[in-house]
Amino acid sequence: MAAYDIIDHDYDVIVVGAGGAGLRATFGMVEKGFKTACITKVFPTRSHTVAAQGGVGAALGNMAEDKWEWHMYDTVKGSDWLGDQDAIEYMCREAIPSVRELEHYGVPFSRTPEGKIYQRPFGGHMRDFGEAPVQRACAAADRTGHAILHTLYQQSLKHNAEFFVEFFAIDLITDGERCVGVMAIDMATGEIHRFRGNKVVLATGGYGRSYFSCTSAHTCTGDGNAMVARAGLPLQDMEFVQFHPTGVYGAGVLITEGARGEGGYLTNSEGDRFMERYAPTAKDLASRDVVSRAMTMEIREQRGVGSNNDHILLHLEHLGSDVLWERLPGITETAKIFAGIDATKEPIPVLPTVHYNMGGIPTNYLGEVLKPTADNPDAVFPGLMAVGECSSVSVHGANRLGTNSLLDIVVFGRAAALRCAETMIPGSTLPELPQDSADYALGRLDKARNANGGSTTAEIRGNMQHAMQNDAAVFRTSKTLKEGCDKLDVIAKSLTDLKVSDRSLIFNTDLIEALELDNLMACALSTIFGAEARQESRGAHAHEDYPDRDDENWMKHSLAYLKEDWSIDLDYRPVHTYTLSDDVEYIEPRARVY
Ligand SMILES: Cc1cc2nc3c(=O)[nH]c(=O)nc-3n(C[C@H](O)[C@H](O)[C@H](O)COP(=O)(O)OP(=O)(O)OC[C@H]3O[C@@H](n4cnc5c(N)ncnc54)[C@H](O)[C@@H]3O)c2cc1C
Repeated sequence: MAAYDIIDHDYDVIVVGAGGAGLRATFGMVEKGFKTACITKVFPTRSHTVAAQGGVGAALGNMAEDKWEWHMYDTVKGSDWLGDQDAIEYMCREAIPSVRELEHYGVPFSRTPEGKIYQRPFGGHMRDFGEAPVQRACAAADRTGHAILHTLYQQSLKHNAEFFVEFFAIDLITDGERCVGVMAIDMATGEIHRFRGNKVVLATGGYGRSYFSCTSAHTCTGDGNAMVARAGLPLQDMEFVQFHPTGVYGAGVLITEGARGEGGYLTNSEGDRFMERYAPTAKDLASRDVVSRAMTMEIREQRGVGSNNDHILLHLEHLGSDVLWERLPGITETAKIFAGIDATKEPIPVLPTVHYNMGGIPTNYLGEVLKPTADNPDAVFPGLMAVGECSSVSVHGANRLGTNSLLDIVVFGRAAALRCAETMIPGSTLPELPQDSADYALGRLDKARNANGGSTTAEIRGNMQHAMQNDAAVFRTSKTLKEGCDKLDVIAKSLTDLKVSDRSLIFNTDLIEALELDNLMACALSTIFGAEARQESRGAHAHEDYPDRDDENWMKHSLAYLKEDWSIDLDYRPVHTYTLSDDVEYIEPRARVY
């Protein structure tokens, strides 16, 4: 291995990621007096959070009566009873102060005529425990994520948080018992940095890019998840991947559910508003898995639109150009750029597209990462926290409600800082680094840098993405999943044949993409093997050979352990069937009615 000089840093807390979750955690930590570093591979305001459109959920009741208990009920129901109800209670209760706090930090929310935060209807948001739709999504036009991310970045600057921008975190440093730091490379110079700290907080986002068509940024490569997997810890519920019903046909770019919240609707080739048949109450605002499956059914039954009968139409033109330009300006532009459509005049061609990863690094509602043992499924792995889309708290369970992720990132980013303030003292002695602390990460870096096989990163990545898209999609069967596992097995092993052409260390994107591919592969394998094992249908996991939810055998979180030969060992841990407070009742599982 080549010799690498290492630049050392000591911090109380190291946050990896500067999306909404990472930034909220970062300035929360600084506020509590911790010396905090925030490492990010893209400039903070380029994180995927910037792309979130529709809104952040909170039962503020600004437009009509609403209660956090109804929000909790909807979230549990949306999770198809795989969510942990203690965590869901915490999130829905804390939603109200967290969104008000965002407003005070300066998020430019849209307003009602009285000047309150504007709230729009969204899929699965109901009043009176599922009776009728309610307006709960707090929105800044259709650029809510943009508004939140910029505000959180400004708050971080105000608090003098220390950023390491365009630094790529390679691997965690652990001493077997706990996490003690993280290794990173400065992408501009190739310098290696070792960060030692009492707490590492992973906020690295999702891994949508393990699929061919997804709404997420090219940077959503599951790096934090894979670092955790390589450290011998499990990933949880990775088989649950949310498809968003309305990706622009051919491009994958998102048209927010807020478009249907504002009155948009879907039709098939016969001009039929088919959602009325599949979900008579919620119709076009049924939860995402229901709408995605209904669209797929219509297409399968030859009622898709276009010469290949392969997509569906989303109508907004009846809303009028004033409403579109005021409430949905971003998607009106998106339709123009990516579909060549004037949404004020014609419908937009859409298709279900990978959108969100419910699974991830298992944590409790305080943000602490779990390393379950035989006696304690909730055992904490010291020194490590995870927040945001990379984590599985689990508030989203088997399926996430729209607007609950922007909420999750601010609530749990904040919770991580509160937990550190409770359990740590700023400036405490830092843990000793193991003698070989840098070796593992540098070994992997060096191997990728010198990879001299016959296949490029793009080729292997393409094979993986297509296998995932075909075999771990909206509908799954035992046959497709088994075939997918076999294919992925071969594709993962083909990484030994990787070729990286650029050997330099200055902005070597070839090298960084190779490291990202390693990370994506860990996530893809955990997803498809977890899916193959789960013999039921729950939330986003719709298994045609097992069409029913099976609470007796499968109301449990899956745990995927990655082995060095890329094989996956599966285990399970119980779902929390209790709430956080004595006066909040556990919501018993019930049949799915739409
Ligand atoms: C198009 C789109 C629209 C959406 N709309 C909504 C919505 O309206 N409402 C809602 O609730 N949710 C929405 N979501 C989901 C939500 O936006 C995301 O789940 C959430 O923003 C994720 O935030 P995050 O902070 O966890 O991660 P991200 O915002 O993805 O940030 C990840 C951060 O990690 C850093 N990072 C990653 N790997 C490394 C590494 N190896 N080294 C250093 N840094 C690293 C990146 O630089 C980045 O700063 C949407 C998602 C998409 C894709």
